[in-house]
Amino acid sequence: MYMFSKSLEERCNRILRDMEGSLTARDRVGIQDFVLLDAYTSESAVLDNLRKRFNENLIYTYIGTLLVSVNPYKELGIYTKKQMDIYMGVNFFELPPHIYALADNVYRTMLTETNNHFILISGESGAGKTEASKKILQFYAVSCPSTKLLDNVRDRLLLSNPVLEAFGNAKTLKNDNSSRFGKYMDIQFDHMGGAVGGHILSYLLEKSRVVHQNHGERSFHIFYQLVEGGEEDLLRWLGLERNCQRYSYLVQGECAKVSSVNDKSDWKTVRKALSVIEFSESNIESLFAIIASVLHLGNVTFVADSQGYATLNNKNYRSTLPFQTLWKIEARSEEVLSPFTVDQAVYAKDALAKAIYGRTFTWLVNELNESLANKDSSRKTVIGLLDIYGFEVFSVNSFEQFCINYCNEKLQQLFIQLTLKSEQEEYEMEGIEWESVPYFNNKIICDLVEEKFKGIISVLDEECLRPGEATDMTFLEKLEEKMGGHAHFVTHKLADQKTRKTLERGDFRLLHYAGEVTYSVVGFLDKNNDLLYRNIKEVMRQSKNAIVKHCFPSTEPDSKKRPETVATQFKSSLVGLTEILMSKEPWYVRCMKPNEGKQPGLFDDVLVRHQVKYLGLMEHLRVRRAGFAYRRRYEIFLQRYKPLCPDTWPNWKGTAAEGVECLVKHLGYKPDEYKMGRTKIFIRHPRTLFATEDAFEV
Ligand code: ATP
Ligand code: MG
Repeated sequence: MYMFSKSLEERCNRILRDMEGSLTARDRVGIQDFVLLDAYTSESAVLDNLRKRFNENLIYTYIGTLLVSVNPYKELGIYTKKQMDIYMGVNFFELPPHIYALADNVYRTMLTETNNHFILISGESGAGKTEASKKILQFYAVSCPSTKLLDNVRDRLLLSNPVLEAFGNAKTLKNDNSSRFGKYMDIQFDHMGGAVGGHILSYLLEKSRVVHQNHGERSFHIFYQLVEGGEEDLLRWLGLERNCQRYSYLVQGECAKVSSVNDKSDWKTVRKALSVIEFSESNIESLFAIIASVLHLGNVTFVADSQGYATLNNKNYRSTLPFQTLWKIEARSEEVLSPFTVDQAVYAKDALAKAIYGRTFTWLVNELNESLANKDSSRKTVIGLLDIYGFEVFSVNSFEQFCINYCNEKLQQLFIQLTLKSEQEEYEMEGIEWESVPYFNNKIICDLVEEKFKGIISVLDEECLRPGEATDMTFLEKLEEKMGGHAHFVTHKLADQKTRKTLERGDFRLLHYAGEVTYSVVGFLDKNNDLLYRNIKEVMRQSKNAIVKHCFPSTEPDSKKRPETVATQFKSSLVGLTEILMSKEPWYVRCMKPNEGKQPGLFDDVLVRHQVKYLGLMEHLRVRRAGFAYRRRYEIFLQRYKPLCPDTWPNWKGTAAEGVECLVKHLGYKPDEYKMGRTKIFIRHPRTLFATEDAFEV
């Protein structure tokens, strides 16, 4: 049952004011649900409305129950405890749009319908996804029932965020706190609505960042936090200096200091969080020892000896590093020791740094899950929060962007499946008259990337199977050969005809649903293979560091058995994610960037229009406008509202559909306000339902 906290009169007034809106107010602040825009729903009308609202610091707008959010790039004072209280238990459309309203609505629907939900937060890098997901979690932390036990879970859920952000986020050109991994988090609730546990799934950490950052970017926050904030004793023990400039892995982007990031205080937050989450002191020590050893590893350099082979340059490191400049090659059954060239040695060193960091991150997520696990096996319902890296286009795009953008294609496909397509199919199935809304189905692009034997990932994997022969360029040639005719694939040769923009040799371009992206094939094979020399693994296995030992288990398949490539693993994990999401009720938050400069108060029409387009807002709006905001199975609707009509209360003898018909006639629904389907009633406007809800209180 919804619990309404406001007086009827106040609520009716608000509904009238907000839904109909006085002309002057509307002129100034726009309208808070796009579904109610009277004009023919053009892109320009949507853009005007967004701009008006943005200029009034109203960053949220609805399309039905979908929430659109425009990053204000400034503190708005709208996330206070007072605001949370206002939104708790209030019907969705009654108050101005807010992320709290959405969070509250999802929570209450979960409780009344005892089913599982997820909130998909999408938008490009820097649009505000991670902030939105934190606001939702904070809202639940305050609004859910509280007991000593539940408060403990709540604290852990909240504190998992700064820990994961320290290890998984970094400054990029687009965002000073950019998530470099995908995150799906289930919050588990008991039947009373208490948050009793959680579970995190992480997706493809961009670990190449550990060894290389583009200009203006940084490595993961934790490195800078440790160097800047680490206690004197700790740094001494780790052999670190308090100076980021000393560490080669930290200075490639030439921006170790970022004005919007306070590494020192963030370090304190992370330290405290690790204790509350109950990481043991020895695990915490091992964790920081790993971070330090990656920094030390970065400073190892090699020089060529008289024969051109690599030897360690830094005398200091010779004794402390588990590193060898020779590696074993298995030739038939003999072991041959083959010396490295300097380039090979550097490559092996970087591969090790990436492997250690990547595996430690996985370990960290597992530890967090242990700590968040709910030991009680009683039935729970969940709300999943999906905050995954947004669509990305840089001046040079590599394998990482390819994976990230592929992931965004998959999520768009899910949105189409769950919302656009299913909405239309539902009308058809229910026999509701309906003028179908056209939309671009990006399945064709998903197939181009992932199709078995034919897709880009398959071609890449094939090339990875030909070590020594295949190169990034042969991969590109194969792509050109196989995909040349595809409408969304542009090669060097075809560039002029398809997009009239030339391509560099070594690049290919995909026409994503969100726009064109040119990828450089350099490094694709290596990154997809992600191989680590076997004897390095063996050395790691012998480490005294408990986490390292754990991350390099002796049971790991040896190099003779080919491990799954990175892209294929990622593809499987996305299939798994899609399955998880498909079994839940979807809710959406669409985040947008108002400008590229991270500036408050600046609304760039061209940039926002582009996002309106590719976030599918117009299609969603058209479907929503033409459709019905609310629908429920007859049985459920009747069960809930039958006390409102003497003929249906307490027991209705006929079918549920007949009961609902009788009920809505009694309530005075006008013929154009609702439609009766085969199994459900469809209600056009939320206000009709509000009035029905209100009837309980009269
Ligand atoms: P990425 O895909 O790179 O991880 P993102 O969509 O997660 O990007 P966020 O990190 O959530 O982006 O937001 C980027 C920055 O924008 C934040 O660090 C913050 O400064 C600002 N920001 C985002 N949302 C809000 C908000 N609601 N209010 C104020 N500032 C915000
Ligand atoms: Mg983020």
